[in-house]
Amino acid sequence: MLRGTKIVATIGPASSDPAVLKRMLLAGVNVVRLNFSHGKAQDHIDRATMVREAAAECGREIAIMADLQGPKIRIGKFENGKIEIDKGDKFILDAECPLGNQDRVGLDYKALPRDVRPNDVLLLNDGLIVLIVDKIVGSEIHTTVRIGGELSNNKGINRQGGGLTAPALTAKDMEDIKTAMSFQADYVAVSFPKNATDMEMARQLANIAGEAYGHKPMMIAKIERAEAIPLLQEILDASDGIMVARGDLAVEVGNAAVPALQKRMIKMARASNKIAITATQMMESMIFNAVPTRAEVSDVANAVLDGTDAVMTSAETASGRYPVETVEAMAAICQEAEAFQECKLDADFMNQTFTRIDQSIAYGALFTAYHLRVKAIAALTESGSTTLWMSRHMIDIPIFAMTPSIATQRKAALYRNVQTFELPASTDREAVLKAAENLLLENGVVNKGDMIVVTWGEPMGEVGGTNSLKIVRVGE
Ligand code: PGA
Ligand code: MN
Repeated sequence: MLRGTKIVATIGPASSDPAVLKRMLLAGVNVVRLNFSHGKAQDHIDRATMVREAAAECGREIAIMADLQGPKIRIGKFENGKIEIDKGDKFILDAECPLGNQDRVGLDYKALPRDVRPNDVLLLNDGLIVLIVDKIVGSEIHTTVRIGGELSNNKGINRQGGGLTAPALTAKDMEDIKTAMSFQADYVAVSFPKNATDMEMARQLANIAGEAYGHKPMMIAKIERAEAIPLLQEILDASDGIMVARGDLAVEVGNAAVPALQKRMIKMARASNKIAITATQMMESMIFNAVPTRAEVSDVANAVLDGTDAVMTSAETASGRYPVETVEAMAAICQEAEAFQECKLDADFMNQTFTRIDQSIAYGALFTAYHLRVKAIAALTESGSTTLWMSRHMIDIPIFAMTPSIATQRKAALYRNVQTFELPASTDREAVLKAAENLLLENGVVNKGDMIVVTWGEPMGEVGGTNSLKIVRVGE
């Protein structure tokens, strides 16, 4: 059984050894995420090179996702690295403070005092520390501690309810986009977008930076601000996919609201022909333990049943003790959950109208495959869009993107239920169809006599324009 749900693994110190990385890829990683919140440009360039080499050695096409840091607002550093604050203490966030102490700490976003109001609830360190704003005095935000604890250097700050105005793309993000395009990152994830304009701007910058390499990345909007929720549709329209970024989102909207939002976001993404990634703390306990908790197992399985394209790891594979085991566990959970996934293709198609020829062929192939119970769908595709449309519907038949384009193979690495093969372009239709059939045979996907559905565009050997569909009995 092929696994349909994809795995995005963040790499870091725990997974920057080529041997470990290779084991992770073989265990099932489809997309490697480089987190630009940590490390220097050169670190990411080196890791990207390592990923491409490891993938080549494994004979797989893996996507690289460059995840921009974005305008995460952080406190500065402390004289002694950290402090301990208690409920009822007074504490000052001071934009002008160079080095923090027991009374106050600096801020990397100097305009924060202008953005907050008395009685605002500020959440530090992913909500573990809660401060209530008393008053603003010049560059100082005076607060009272509601929930205390240890506070260390550079912890993040969110406001309950969202609404901090820091622009989505920082100067660092703009530089990082250029770095990411230098190694042709297949996906760029934008942190804290507020609206469609933030995504359009990021895409424009990425396309400009990618032009020298003939590369256009796919753009992922990380949904992690409260104000992005009502604008989800316009953000989806401006993106290729979204990440349900549960870490920051939970802090802004309250963690109880997140599971329902996850379901809504994944549903909306699929209905809009976009990708969805479910992220953060999926296997959190595996940072230290070789097996996940029961709750984590259920979380991953439920994301699969919600229809996510991919589940993601963060610290589990970046800095945890068991990066390989984490991927193995996730892969196994995804497969078990998929076996239980409901396919309701007839209902899905009831209210659909198709206007595009290629999209109509994609759905036609899906419908035919579903009712004839074929073994596989093979889509001969240049851009991969046929397979993206097909994969927006749940079907228990694997979809194969057969393409001459390596970039398309890498992008499709993230699409749910889509596997890829390289198939050189040719103008000889019979030869290409035979080659597609043989790829499935040689790889053990089908046996002689099995039925498959194949889609392609005519005239052959030209970009785009899927307009043909054929039902083939393999080997005949
Ligand atoms: P991060 O994004 O890991 O870059 O913070 C994901 C999240 O907030 O959930
Ligand atoms: Mn985040």
